[in-house]
Amino acid sequence: MTDVTMVNGVDTVVARGAELLAAAAQQRQAARQRRFDTLAVHGLYDMNAALNNLGSINEPAYLSPAQHFENSDHMEAALAYQYPGWIYSRVANPTVNYLEETLALLEGYGCASETSACATASGTSAVFMATVPFLSVQAGQHMNIVASARCYGGTFMLFSQRYALERGVELRWVKDPLDLHEWASKIDAQTRFVFGELPSNPGLAMFDVQALADMAHGWGIPLIVDSTIATPALLRPLCHGADIVVQSLSKAMTSGGFVIAGAVIARHNIPSKVGTDELRANFAQNLKLLSFRDHGPALSPFNALMTLNDLRSLRSRLDVMSRNTLKVAQFLQQQPGVEQVFYPGLATMREHEVARRYMWLVDGDDDGQPVNRYSHLLSFTVKGGMTAARRVFDAFQIIWRATDLGKHKSVATIPAISTHQQQGESGRDLAAVLPHQIRLSVGTEHPDDIMRDLEQALARA
Ligand SMILES: *Cc1c(COP(=O)(O)O)cnc(C)c1O
Repeated sequence: MTDVTMVNGVDTVVARGAELLAAAAQQRQAARQRRFDTLAVHGLYDMNAALNNLGSINEPAYLSPAQHFENSDHMEAALAYQYPGWIYSRVANPTVNYLEETLALLEGYGCASETSACATASGTSAVFMATVPFLSVQAGQHMNIVASARCYGGTFMLFSQRYALERGVELRWVKDPLDLHEWASKIDAQTRFVFGELPSNPGLAMFDVQALADMAHGWGIPLIVDSTIATPALLRPLCHGADIVVQSLSKAMTSGGFVIAGAVIARHNIPSKVGTDELRANFAQNLKLLSFRDHGPALSPFNALMTLNDLRSLRSRLDVMSRNTLKVAQFLQQQPGVEQVFYPGLATMREHEVARRYMWLVDGDDDGQPVNRYSHLLSFTVKGGMTAARRVFDAFQIIWRATDLGKHKSVATIPAISTHQQQGESGRDLAAVLPHQIRLSVGTEHPDDIMRDLEQALARA
């Protein structure tokens, strides 16, 4: 008797849950009609949600680790994922959820397919979570991964040390991501996924994302893109065929500079040779419900709130930073002490044609006219080698010396001795990181002051 009562009770809760889920889906559909800036400011937090939150205009900070349940039926339905609850903050959290909904909308803006997002404790855990589900061992089967070597140092180490060395995954680096023949020569029937950074940190390398997506799909595997440098304000790889996007939210997504955070955003119905139907149907949700529960890389709700707050100004911020950076890049090109400048906005870059095709300020300029914007990151080499580069670097007065980027404050580093130190000289050769290369992230200061700082520093070379 008690059993029957309980089952009926659970059924009632599950039915109510289905209604709530349908309402949320409808709200998401309605939001897709809105423009990018509106989505960045509001996400899915609306007046209804506010009235359930004592009227607060801002999203609530739920710092509680766990959810209280009305009764055992409610608990059972929620833990079977049949009632939209959040259960425990390692698995889900309402504040984090507002961030995930916003990210899915921004990264999916203008895309035909539906998108879902999963926030992570760092960009590095996002790269890990986005890739590890494709490495499931299948008895007797060899596997390889094909990735651009021109990537972030942490990603280089994850793939080469953790995956290749420790797990025996065959790693095939692509040295020149612009060369589609090189990708084609490395992908085969044993390849589990294709991975690239767009544009790359620190060399600003690029590839033709639509062509590479088509190639990956020809083999029935996903294309995973780390789009940290571009952000959805300038490029949305999911609209150009990519299946999964990785973001380090620690960079330009949060220019205020208060958090380490990351995200995996995926379109629905991705190709994969391994994993369940559920994984292919909604990769980001599957990650959250299963991989997250077991690996535990959850984002703190406090950091989610900080991120939401910074995201509201994403488009206008990336516009200003990109315009400043182009000015600084053009200025550097004219300096006698500078050997070479790497910036996708410069016509001298090999990547310029691809960059012009893919990097646009979302929704155009103030008049809605389409305008190319090439991000906040550049790098340059100094004449006189490593010693001269260090002298220039040490002489900066406004530009911070730190391993950081995408902030309101301009920041520089020498990748060979910092972000790309641990991969060693041969690893840096593969990744095309030069010993006398300075990476500069241009912020929102007046660009004249940044150029003056560079000029006085270059005089010390
Ligand atoms: C910084 C960075 C990462 C790693 O992000 P964290 O949040 O620092 O873990 C990954 N990819 C790119 C391109 C980055 O710049």
